[in-house]
Amino acid sequence: MIKFLDLQKINAQYAAELKQVASDVIDAGWFLMGEKLSNFETKLSKFTGAKYTIGVANGLDALRLILKAYINLGVMKEGDEVIVPANTYIASLLAITDNRLVPILVEPNEKSFNLDLDLIEKSITSNTKAIMVVHLYGQICWSNKLNELAEKYNLKIIEDNAQAIGAIWNGISSGNLGDAAGFSFYPGKNLGALGDAGAVTTNDSKLAEQIRALGNYGSKKKYVNEFQGLNSRMDEIQAGFLAVKLKYIEAENQHRRAIAERYLSEIKNPLIHLPVPVNESIFVKNNKEHVWHLFVLRTKKRDAFQKYLLDNGIQTLIHYPTPPNKQLAYSNMNHLDFSLTNIIHDEVVSLPIGPITTSEEVDKIISVVNSFC
Ligand SMILES: *Cc1c(COP(=O)(O)O)cnc(C)c1O
Repeated sequence: MIKFLDLQKINAQYAAELKQVASDVIDAGWFLMGEKLSNFETKLSKFTGAKYTIGVANGLDALRLILKAYINLGVMKEGDEVIVPANTYIASLLAITDNRLVPILVEPNEKSFNLDLDLIEKSITSNTKAIMVVHLYGQICWSNKLNELAEKYNLKIIEDNAQAIGAIWNGISSGNLGDAAGFSFYPGKNLGALGDAGAVTTNDSKLAEQIRALGNYGSKKKYVNEFQGLNSRMDEIQAGFLAVKLKYIEAENQHRRAIAERYLSEIKNPLIHLPVPVNESIFVKNNKEHVWHLFVLRTKKRDAFQKYLLDNGIQTLIHYPTPPNKQLAYSNMNHLDFSLTNIIHDEVVSLPIGPITTSEEVDKIISVVNSFC
C-alpha cells in the first residue's frame, strides 16, 4: 500500500538526531521558554527573512494571536471584517471568529485554488481591516495588487502560511510577504513537529512583543499580567525537533517539486483536471512559488477514482470535503453559496506526495491514474 503520507518513515530518516534532542531535553530538565525555543526562532527568522519569530502552540493559535494582538493594539476591534478565501481550511476562519471579527468569504481562482485577487476589492467595506491570504496546498498567493489594496484601504495583510513554508515569491519567502504570518508545524505539514507547534513571523516589533506576551498569559514578566492572554507556547522538545528538521526542509521541498513535475507532465487522462501552477512560465521544478504540500487534482468521478486507486494500493485524501461555510459550526453562514468553492469541494482529490515518496511509487501512481476510466 502506498500511504498518503508515511510520518513514521519521514521521521525515521532523522531518528538519531531527534532522539538526541529528546535526551538533551530530559537531561536539561527545562521544558518551556528555553534555549531550544530561542534557537529555533532565530533559525526560522533567518530562513524566512522576517525579523521576529514567536514560537506558539499550533498554527491556529498563531493566527488567533496575530488578530488578538491587532485588537489589543487598537488596529481592529470586535465586529471588524477580515477577507479570507471561501475554500480555505476551517482554521483560518476559526482564528477570525474566535476574536469576534467577521470573516468575509471570497471565492478562489479556478486555476490556483488561491484567493482570487481580482474579486477582493468589491468585498472591501469601511469595516474591512485585514486580508488573510492563504497559501493553499503550498502555493504562494501574492501579487503587487495586494500591497496596493492594503495601502489604498489601510488594511493589514496576514499570511496563513500553514502549508507553504519554504515557498518564495520574487525572492521573498512566504511568511515575510505580509504584515504577519502564521505557521503550522502539525506533524503532516511540510515542516512537521512530533506533536503540535506553530509560529508567528513579522517585521513589526510592537506586534511581535504583543504576541509574545499574549501567548504567555499576557505577561512579559512573571506574575505581572498586562493583558488577558492565552497559554500558547512551543515546547522545548518540539523546538528542538523542528530545528533538526528545518535543516532538511529545502531538500524535502525540492523532492516534492520533482514529484509534482512528473505528475504534471506524465498524468494524461481526460477524466482528470491537473492543477495549474500560477507561475507556468518557469519549469515546475524551478518554480519556488510552490512547495507542493498537497498535489490536488479534480475529477467529476471522485468516488470511483478514489476506490480505483485504493483497490490498486494507493491511498488518497480529500482537502477538503466541506467548505467552512457549510459546516455546522458556521450555521450562520450555511445559506451562503460560492459556486466555484462548492465545485472544488465536490471534485478535489489529493495524490500521495512527500519527502520520501520514491520514483517507483510515482511510476505506479501515474500508471494507475492514467488507466482509470
Ligand atoms: C494546518 C492548518 C492550519 C492550522 O494549523 P494547526 O497547527 O493544525 O492548528 C491553519 N490553516 C491552514 C490552511 C492549515 O492547513
